[in-house]
Amino acid sequence: MADAEGRHSIAEFRHGYEEEGRLRGFRSGCGFVTATWGLRCPRCGAADLAEATLSGRGRVAAFTVQNVPSDEFLNEAPYAYVVVDLEEGGRISGWMPSVRRPEELALGAAVRWLPSYKPGVLFEREPPPAERTGA
Ligand SMILES: [Zn+2]
Repeated sequence: MADAEGRHSIAEFRHGYEEEGRLRGFRSGCGFVTATWGLRCPRCGAADLAEATLSGRGRVAAFTVQNVPSDEFLNEAPYAYVVVDLEEGGRISGWMPSVRRPEELALGAAVRWLPSYKPGVLFEREPPPAERTGA
């Protein structure tokens, strides 16, 4: 839900993936999709962004391995902090507890969002192509 001026709050966004099991995004009338809440579409400037549920699939655009985490992630380090380009468009940051060393992840790697009780936007690797196609 947006307020009267079209704003979406970070609390609503977190509620989506933490309690509703879905990753919220916003779709503009021009077709642009973003995972980042905002007042207006960054492409066409329209203010009437409609909520959209994103698949959570994407590719790693950037990452780093955190060895000295914030308090909330103290028991999880080391883990990868990732920036993911989502399939539908838009970019979102998250983390991957399954990655503990830089050699274990590559730029462009296929990942998917993993609904979880853990804080933050959690990602895991997509299964390799052989697992998906049965080939
Ligand atoms: Zn637009």
